[in-house]
Amino acid sequence: MRIAVLSDIHSNLVALDAILTRIGAVDAIWHLGDVVGYGPDPDGVVARLATVGAVGVRGNHDAAAIGGPEIEWFNPEARAAIEWTRDRIGHDTRDWLAALPERRQIDEFDLVHGSQREPLREYVTSLRIARECLALIATPHGLHGHTHIPLAFVESDGGIAVTLTDDGSSLDLAGHRTFLNPGSVGQPRDGDPDASCLLLDTDLGSATWARVPYDIGAVQAAMHAAKLPRRLADRLSLGL
Ligand code: ZN
Repeated sequence: MRIAVLSDIHSNLVALDAILTRIGAVDAIWHLGDVVGYGPDPDGVVARLATVGAVGVRGNHDAAAIGGPEIEWFNPEARAAIEWTRDRIGHDTRDWLAALPERRQIDEFDLVHGSQREPLREYVTSLRIARECLALIATPHGLHGHTHIPLAFVESDGGIAVTLTDDGSSLDLAGHRTFLNPGSVGQPRDGDPDASCLLLDTDLGSATWARVPYDIGAVQAAMHAAKLPRRLADRLSLGL
């Protein structure tokens, strides 16, 4: 099976469509939450994910968008974008977001947005946190987003190592446990503005990251027209 893993799409339909075009036919699409927030097209992104049959988990922005108290953690710009999102989304989008679980196990993979310990809140930013999460995972592999940084934690011989990944980076899944982050589709933060995703091939036992350019200017123009915070638009050009 070929599976595309997408995270942190953040209402960026142009980036999502660029990714879907690049990956072509796959057997499944999994998402790791933060489908909405920051960007200009929450209904469009949710409609597209529903159309392609994507399954996944809830992120903190998804929870906040449907009225959750998570909005209290947000900085002023993130909060402004979520308030805009709350006012704008339709019933179908709200229902789709409300149905997302915080954690989901599919075959050999355990999916969360943040971490297994705190699915909506914790950032996996260290070897220690990654090791503690892997200890909570019953499957060989974990998948997480939230940091917007594509990388792979790989456990072997009792140790754990981390590797930052880029376009074309590939990893052999066999023989060790892994905890993988696909990076962000709609708001990358690793200094590369291209949309990021992860492709799993369970027949080959491989994980491969891809970076895909998209029309950032079109998204920024839509954000300006919607009067979303200017810095949220500007950062897309920087990938930060
Ligand atoms: Zn996010």
